[in-house]
Amino acid sequence: MRDRAGGATERSELLRSLPSVDDALKRPEVRAFAGRVGARLLTELVRATLEAWRQRAKSTVDVAGLRERLERGEWLADLVQAIEREERAGLRRVVNATGVVLHTGLGRAPVHPAVAERMAEAARSYVTLEIERDSGERGRRDARVGDLVSRLLGCEAAIAVNNNAAAVVLALSGLARGKHTLLSRGELVEIGGAFRMPDVMAAAGTTLVEVGTTNRTRIGDYRAALGPATALLLKVHTSNYRVRGFVEEASPAELAALGREFGIASCYDVGSGWVDAPGAARLDLLGDEPDVAAALASGVDLVTFSGDKLLGAPQAGLLAGRSGAIARLRQSPLYRAMRLDKVSLAGLEATLELLLAGRGDELPTRAMLIADPARLARDAERLAAALRRLPFLAVEVVPSTSQPGSGSAPDVFLPTRAVRVRHASLGAAALARALRLGEPPVFARVEDDALLVDPRTLLEGDEARLVSAFGALGR
Ligand SMILES: *Cc1c(COP(=O)(O)O)cnc(C)c1O
Repeated sequence: MRDRAGGATERSELLRSLPSVDDALKRPEVRAFAGRVGARLLTELVRATLEAWRQRAKSTVDVAGLRERLERGEWLADLVQAIEREERAGLRRVVNATGVVLHTGLGRAPVHPAVAERMAEAARSYVTLEIERDSGERGRRDARVGDLVSRLLGCEAAIAVNNNAAAVVLALSGLARGKHTLLSRGELVEIGGAFRMPDVMAAAGTTLVEVGTTNRTRIGDYRAALGPATALLLKVHTSNYRVRGFVEEASPAELAALGREFGIASCYDVGSGWVDAPGAARLDLLGDEPDVAAALASGVDLVTFSGDKLLGAPQAGLLAGRSGAIARLRQSPLYRAMRLDKVSLAGLEATLELLLAGRGDELPTRAMLIADPARLARDAERLAAALRRLPFLAVEVVPSTSQPGSGSAPDVFLPTRAVRVRHASLGAAALARALRLGEPPVFARVEDDALLVDPRTLLEGDEARLVSAFGALGR
């Protein structure tokens, strides 16, 4: 054991031998990073790295050991890590191997490549956003989307906003602000991200009148709850859960008829936006998920749904229905605050055009949902064969299930073949983390202490990306 004075001297020497921020920044190998993260951030990262070392030098019991590490240049390795962490942050392309088709955490629907092309072109150029080419006069930005939705769904009119949450707020505010909205107790849902119906109603300035019970609500319950302040009959699809057993709910047709009888507006939030498109496979596999055209045919004034769920478009919220109701929403000051930008509008138009042209099955999310199980099995075998060449992996193909996701059809499980991967030295959770942090980032499922890679949600080129991401984990 050293005496106290000797220990203190060694420690102050260690502190003195740490470079100053200025000296560190003068080193060519440090300066080189300025091109990657910018001079200002580099200074900040150098300062934070050296400060961490200073604190460690003050408190370590192993002064000699830390000194050795400092002399080996480990502070520089810490700086490199901080820079790499910075470069990994934010939005990055990832491989979705989870088998969850509409994965909210991974950005829901990837759009068709032709749609992405139109979005990129709109982003980098001037566009006919709010101008009539005939007259040169001011036009409406979502006139074309309105026409396309009306054609696809056979409704009178439609408008588009930022997302379906906004669509619901706009409908509530535009049709029932300062008045009462009737909603079944069985439909007081939370969609996720704190989108809770009672709170949404409060934010939209309409008073929630709860009707019926959690498991049973009949049309008579709505009729009994009608009053002079009633302005809207709302129905919300319970997207992310199902109530089973002794249950009853009023149909949208009953709500629409009651609304017509008393001159009260009706609105049905179907959420997932399942649309039967001409020439495309029917999505019967989604079970009792409501279909937008059927919801409209029930006679309700408005139907709201997301663009980036089953429709397979960019993020958007659509309101379709009667022209009178849509015209009222257009007058709402909230509409101006919720309107779509040119890039999303370009993507929405292009997606709707593909659906109308009979090319719906080409949309990536629809193609994933209807993927042929035999093809998925072949994909899994091919991927497994490529991964088996990596000696540190144990690989097998197993039967599994994929999910539509995003709260659509929560109890629908689609049969698939997954590749089960075990790593020679990493446990399943560590393997999943290493893949998330790798390049390109890969997201997969962990089940029974193994990693499952589902080919259903892989896009063009993802197989090679996956193999290279696994290949990097051999050390
Ligand atoms: C998903 C969903 C929403 C929210 O839609 P976003 O597009 O995510 O804002 C609202 N209502 C229902 C019934 C939903 O399923």
